[in-house]
Amino acid sequence: MSKILILPGDGIGKEIIAQAIKVIDSLNANHGLGMNLVHGLIGGSAYEETGSPLPEETLVTAKECDSILLGAVGGQQWESLERELRPERGLLGIRSELDLFSNLRPAILYPQLANASTLKNEVVSGLDLMIVRELVGGIYFGQPRGIEIKDGERFGVNSATYFESEIARIGHSAFQIAQKRDKRVCSVDKANVLEVCELWREVMEEVSQDYPDVELTHMLVDTAAMQLVRAPKQFDVMVTSNLFGDILSDCAAMLTGSIGMLPSASLNKNNYGMYEPIHGSAPDIAGNDIANPLATILSVSMMLRYSLSQASLADKINAAVNVVLDQGYRTKDISAAGDTIVGTDAMGDLIVDAIE
Ligand code: NAD
Repeated sequence: MSKILILPGDGIGKEIIAQAIKVIDSLNANHGLGMNLVHGLIGGSAYEETGSPLPEETLVTAKECDSILLGAVGGQQWESLERELRPERGLLGIRSELDLFSNLRPAILYPQLANASTLKNEVVSGLDLMIVRELVGGIYFGQPRGIEIKDGERFGVNSATYFESEIARIGHSAFQIAQKRDKRVCSVDKANVLEVCELWREVMEEVSQDYPDVELTHMLVDTAAMQLVRAPKQFDVMVTSNLFGDILSDCAAMLTGSIGMLPSASLNKNNYGMYEPIHGSAPDIAGNDIANPLATILSVSMMLRYSLSQASLADKINAAVNVVLDQGYRTKDISAAGDTIVGTDAMGDLIVDAIE
């Protein structure tokens, strides 16, 4: 019996998580999943109840669980709080406390949604790319950092730092994922300008020696950004640092034209994971039953595959999403003329029906 911590968070978080829970309940009842759910607080709603965006109790419970399913955090009402109390600090905090260093962000274009992309159909149709982003190091965490007065004016500093062990472990993650896919890793850096990237490239080459069946190539981040838009299907697995991964994975997500469809995983070295949709808390549509729950439901599928070794149940969820899209049902964000538009709750029910 696996134990999963459910963290709905803020905005549309509660609505989309409710649909994922329906799917889990159905797999428990009819397909022998055996998943036990416990609930916790994170983000702005946690701050409102406890004064912290990451209450101690959430962390303690997280460590007792096998993985986490998260909705999203954030909202304008918390943006003026001091930095440490903002919802996003809860997210950064839990990632770093649990050492969730490997962020997997698939960019998949469902053929039924090819028209949702701003790119030409032939450029993106069938796109299936995995971005592996280092999540707990690099410039987002490096020291020194801050804003100070220097030579009589304000001076801002952040530091891009990586130990070779940090690069090696994300490299291993990427190569192991590539082994289960098309066996190609493209490592993205800026080694022509930054020493930290020179080290990144060297270590990736060293790690690749352990994976003779996987092809390793290197690409500069500016070229990678260009190639992602020009010919994204050339990539299988792309591995990169925290900062570059943040930017490139959003770019890759938008190739699919449907932010509401994309799940993500953040894993530690034991394959413990936090699973969440890539989108935010969408305060502009919260409470209106129009948010797309599929990214969250597909996050459950990723959890089954990457943390709980239940690939056949993961396949069941993916197949159900395909069936419902084939039937022409869409939430508003992915709809086109002729589709049947359904709300968040109804989409959850349709997926459950398709699974059963
Ligand atoms: P967002 O992803 O919340 O929304 C961007 C746009 O996409 C909005 O128009 C929104 O309505 C739409 N959208 C997002 N998810 C959708 C869904 N499931 N179905 C239909 N439409 C959807 O990004 P934002 O507006 O820049 O940020 C809103 C808040 O979310 C901010 O506080 C931000 O800090 C936070 N945020 C949190 C996370 C996270 O929790 N991982 C990630 C990004 C942003």
